[in-house]
Amino acid sequence: MAEYEPLIIQRAEGCTLIDIEGDRYLDGVSSLWCNVHGHRHRRLDAAIVQQLGQIAHCTSLGMSNPATIQLARRLTEIAPPGLDHVFFSSDGSSAVEVALKMAFQYWQQSVPARPQKTRFLALGEAYHGDTVGSVSVGGVERFHAMFRPLLFDVIRLPLPDTYRLPEGVTRQSATDHYLNQLEAALATHHADLAALILEPLVQGAAGMVTHPPGYLRGVRQLTAKYDVLLIADEIATGFGRTGTMFACQQEDVSPDLMCLGKGLTGGYLPMAATLASDAIYQAFLGSYAESKTFFHGHTFGGNPLAAAVALASLDVFEEEQTLEGLPAKIERLSEHLVRMAELPHVGDVRQRGLLAGIELVQDQGHKTPYPWEEKRGSQVCQHALSHGVWLRPLGNVVVIMPPLCVSLKQLDQICRAAENGIVASTQS
Ligand SMILES: *Cc1c(COP(=O)(O)O)cnc(C)c1O
Repeated sequence: MAEYEPLIIQRAEGCTLIDIEGDRYLDGVSSLWCNVHGHRHRRLDAAIVQQLGQIAHCTSLGMSNPATIQLARRLTEIAPPGLDHVFFSSDGSSAVEVALKMAFQYWQQSVPARPQKTRFLALGEAYHGDTVGSVSVGGVERFHAMFRPLLFDVIRLPLPDTYRLPEGVTRQSATDHYLNQLEAALATHHADLAALILEPLVQGAAGMVTHPPGYLRGVRQLTAKYDVLLIADEIATGFGRTGTMFACQQEDVSPDLMCLGKGLTGGYLPMAATLASDAIYQAFLGSYAESKTFFHGHTFGGNPLAAAVALASLDVFEEEQTLEGLPAKIERLSEHLVRMAELPHVGDVRQRGLLAGIELVQDQGHKTPYPWEEKRGSQVCQHALSHGVWLRPLGNVVVIMPPLCVSLKQLDQICRAAENGIVASTQS
């Protein structure tokens, strides 16, 4: 809090946040990657009010309610094929915990059981949440190093980066290189591995690092070949962020488990979900006496108010043709990024759909990062704020991730503010 400069938001309209002084800011990172259709969307507001007239909360332990049941059905309809079952929780980190515990228990109870399959494979710089289990599979040094003594041991692969490539690897050979690395790890460890977990296409907290094309599809093929479950953490990438409803769909991938959060409720209320294949569901199905129960029940899991607004958000996707409207916005964002890539201290620009990262470096040739204490990313965002745009960086990476309903004009304003901020903060 020593350097905290408060920005107190009182209300909002669409993509605009309004603080207690009445100052207006474009929400350039979707209120931390979750807002989808804008703030105060009439349809979403009404769905909550309507549900409030029925019931605000009832437990999912031993009972359920229509909104939550309907949402489960809708999610299985839009998810990649094979994900037919839904387990609700209250936040993304919990959705990851659920996936990890399910994958672990699955092998204990599958027929035949494979009780030695207890370990996890995760990627370098991964981010899967802030609880101890999700931090264990996480790999962001700055967030996670402190807690190492508390964490369970994970097999870690290098970050499948396309900017800082390993010696001798080109952009063309990157996919094969990283998949060969994965196959070597799977060949060695598959008998002990319960699952591989990854953020499909883009590793958000790593700095919007994009995987090379074909990598995700290759991961699916190799995990299937070696009988290791695949957990896709779509908490950041889900609900249209990368241009399709889910990132996995861009490479025709069906994971065994898929984690959803953030945009699930349109960014309105805390809710998350872990989707599972029927094979996984079957391993937990049995009589009371067989005790195959998955012991994981959050008090507010499956909350009806959250479910009601999540259902309304899916309706809005259809009514407003949200995904169909994205290509023009994605194209416009690309145009801005191409221009920004020419700035002297921009090392790399990365984009998937309406999700972008602009990495600032000391010198482009050597890709030398700025020391993190210099807070270059924060300086850019401070500058943008003074021009009416709210952004939040990841170290030296400036993130642009507006709500999907952003207009072209608003997108221009967000990108211009970021660009001016980059010019101003990299001159010294
Ligand atoms: C935000 C995020 C999480 C954690 O979700 P919370 O709701 O903040 O707990 C997990 N994985 C990814 C990829 C995320 O972006």
